[in-house]
Amino acid sequence: MKITDVIAKKEYSVSFEVFPPKTDTAFESVEHAVEEIASLGPSFMSVTYGAGGGTSKYTLNIAKNIMDKYSVPSIAHLTCVSSSRETVRDMIGKIQSAGIENVLALRGDIPEGCTDDKRYYNHAIDLMREIKDSGAGFCVGGACYPEKHPECPSKKEDIIHLKEKADAGFKFFTSQMFFDNNLFYNFMYRIREQGITVPIIPGIMPITKANQVARAISLSGSFVPQRFINLVDKFGDNPDAMMQAGIAYATDQIIDLFANGITHVHVYSMNSPGVARAIMKNLSEIIGKRY
Ligand code: FAD
Repeated sequence: MKITDVIAKKEYSVSFEVFPPKTDTAFESVEHAVEEIASLGPSFMSVTYGAGGGTSKYTLNIAKNIMDKYSVPSIAHLTCVSSSRETVRDMIGKIQSAGIENVLALRGDIPEGCTDDKRYYNHAIDLMREIKDSGAGFCVGGACYPEKHPECPSKKEDIIHLKEKADAGFKFFTSQMFFDNNLFYNFMYRIREQGITVPIIPGIMPITKANQVARAISLSGSFVPQRFINLVDKFGDNPDAMMQAGIAYATDQIIDLFANGITHVHVYSMNSPGVARAIMKNLSEIIGKRY
């Protein structure tokens, strides 16, 4: 099922992101987590793609299993900046052969030393063009950044590039994590004003361990409100309390998004069925599912 059809239903719903294992030995535990998360009945699940493609076979296997074994629509992520054209074309073919209908087309982070002359693809839009050329009829989504992409000099320029992506055929965008919903609402206003009309799926990252905070911020460049800093200061040393507080914070963000006209939220579940379940339980009456 195409993601655009899933989110067009306009019912309150939640989806989850999972990431593939790095080794064969870890595959089973990830598969187990995926099965548990799928059993919660999310509207879809997305599977990340390791930069450079080293874990591509797992991305493919997991995305296929989500769809075939657990009957949940899936998205396979695909990056391009550190891959050759041959590798990317091969992956497009494999995704198509696996019957996966949805792809999140990303540039990927530029690895150190991967200078312009060593790259075939420079931006996610180049991957979109490759997918189009291949004739694969994927529903292609991309990434967007409410607080702008860290490399972009201004929010204005980032939105210009997002518009180019939408015009090139990206059908929806999933957002980078954010911890202050007002930044997301402001972003929505600015992109709609620029004529970007495709659906935007807000991405919410539940921070359930104190040591995730610094990493999440350094990766995303997201602003962390004082309210959240206070919570980590108070509960960061107590793992159970931090887990509960982090889930409550993420739930509160999701409920506020629902209350402000958003019907679909994507949760970065970090392969944690416990976190995914707790969030679904907290939203059970709103999304009409009992756990
Ligand atoms: P782009 O859209 O190419 O944008 C990157 C930068 O280039 C931005 O600053 C943009 O303003 C600028 N830009 C865009 N187009 C142009 C243009 N035509 N000319 C000039 N400048 C331009 N990484 C992974 O490795 N694997 C994953 O599975 C993965 N999943 C992700 C899922 C989501 C929802 C998000 C938000 C990010 C994900 N990432 C993943 C991280 C992502 O690969 C990085 O953030 C990367 O640095 C940018 O990717 P992009 O697709 O947004 O790039």
